Amino acid sequence: MSEHVDYYQVLGVPRTAPIEQIKAAYRRQALRHHPDKNGGSGEAEERFKRCSEAFTTLADATTRAAYDARLWTELSPSLLVGELFAGLTGGRWRRRRAGRDLRHELRLTLEQSAIGGRHRLSFVVESVCELCDGFGAAAEQLSPCAECEGRGEWRPPGVLALPRPCPHCGGRGLRSRSACRRCAGVGVVELSREVELRVRAGSVDGETLTLLGQGEPGRHGGRAGDLYVIVRIVNHPLLSRRGDDLLLELPVGPAAAVLGDTVEVPTLEGEVRLRIPAGTQAGELLRLAGRGMPRSGGGRGDLLVRVAVETPVELGDEQRALWAQLALGAAGAPSYPRARRFDEALALLRAQRGEPRDGG
Ligand SMILES: [Zn+2]
Ligand SMILES: [Zn+2]
Repeated sequence: MSEHVDYYQVLGVPRTAPIEQIKAAYRRQALRHHPDKNGGSGEAEERFKRCSEAFTTLADATTRAAYDARLWTELSPSLLVGELFAGLTGGRWRRRRAGRDLRHELRLTLEQSAIGGRHRLSFVVESVCELCDGFGAAAEQLSPCAECEGRGEWRPPGVLALPRPCPHCGGRGLRSRSACRRCAGVGVVELSREVELRVRAGSVDGETLTLLGQGEPGRHGGRAGDLYVIVRIVNHPLLSRRGDDLLLELPVGPAAAVLGDTVEVPTLEGEVRLRIPAGTQAGELLRLAGRGMPRSGGGRGDLLVRVAVETPVELGDEQRALWAQLALGAAGAPSYPRARRFDEALALLRAQRGEPRDGG
């Protein structure tokens, strides 16, 4: 290489230029300075030669790395710090990298999911440290890596082995006596980020919202990742979802089921009064129309109240005596139609087997 000739400058490309850019620049320069086009001018011929020389050196990865390393030692230290952030040394190992996609959960109560609307989500995202551009080293303390002599690459033994980033300097060709004060040498900082989301009314658990380009920032010019927000609906202590309807299990005492009662039941909008008709059976569903979840086509589902008749436990003597009175002749009495039908069906089965009817 000729002394003091900057091949990058000759081709007019940055030191981080990928091979395609170098090729394109060479074609442009070679056409412009071709001796045939310039009437055999000595100056043009000289420039044409320089272009070819620059291209031959920079188009090949190995000769380019060697050239970069030599350029490094020729440049004065003060110039280096300035050039550093243009990715002078080991620049080709610092590849453009797309940011990762991120996944975060947005936790909503059942009430919030029914209403929908705007919600804020805060999370932490990793980003290249701006102070050191991901080098992790304090710029004023940088010096060429002794292990790779500033080349940033390491060649495993063997003719066919491909060069790899130098493990001592991470392919940067530079090492520093002290770490970057912002990222403590990691090269990456954590930024807290807040996004605003629009959640539809009636969203379901597991529903995913996609925010393009809101994921991890790309590195060295790479595109940012996407953000996926998964809606998680926190279990409600009393209400559960069945499609557009809501279901409520309502325990009532036997007396309320027998005689009827009016009770308070929870809904998405607070408590409402519900009348339990006299003679309500265990497991019967009572319907509060329009008290369910919003439907996608408009309107709302219902709130279904399943009556769970609770059998009293731990009775005192007095209560047991009262229940004993109620039980007298209960099963066969007309007030228990299901029990009566059961007895009749059982008697029929016995008759088919030729056994005498129970009790005569
Ligand atoms: Zn190194
Ligand atoms: Zn840093």
